[in-house]
Amino acid sequence: MAKNHLVLNLSERLNSFMRPYCVICNQNLAAVNYISNGKTRYRKICYYCNKKGKKARTQVPAWFKTGYRKRPTCDRCGFVSKLPDKQITVFYVDGNLRNNNTVNLKSICLNCRTEISHTKGSWKESPIIPDF
Ligand SMILES: [Zn+2]
Ligand SMILES: [Zn+2]
Repeated sequence: MAKNHLVLNLSERLNSFMRPYCVICNQNLAAVNYISNGKTRYRKICYYCNKKGKKARTQVPAWFKTGYRKRPTCDRCGFVSKLPDKQITVFYVDGNLRNNNTVNLKSICLNCRTEISHTKGSWKESPIIPDF
């Protein structure tokens, strides 16, 4: 941190006093919100975190869009999950991530997920999206 401040030139240093750092990553400077009366107003977060946040909120897995919902029990071993969003993941039986037909989708616990990844077969895991 101290090293970083040494490389900043004077105008950058002045600027960084007025311009807050992003509250999420604490690495980039906050994005400009708007300028009024010659005064620049900043957002609380940087451009990148703002973009990332928006993307994460709108990202929905393909199987969810077609109406499939995770089951609380594992379709492979019968494990009953208390936290399906954390302990169950969706697999495509034929390995085709575009085939979102309900007969092609299985709710699989993390234990079986590990076993499946070590055995040869067509099953493929749905790309992981947080909160799904
Ligand atoms: Zn940030
Ligand atoms: Zn299982």
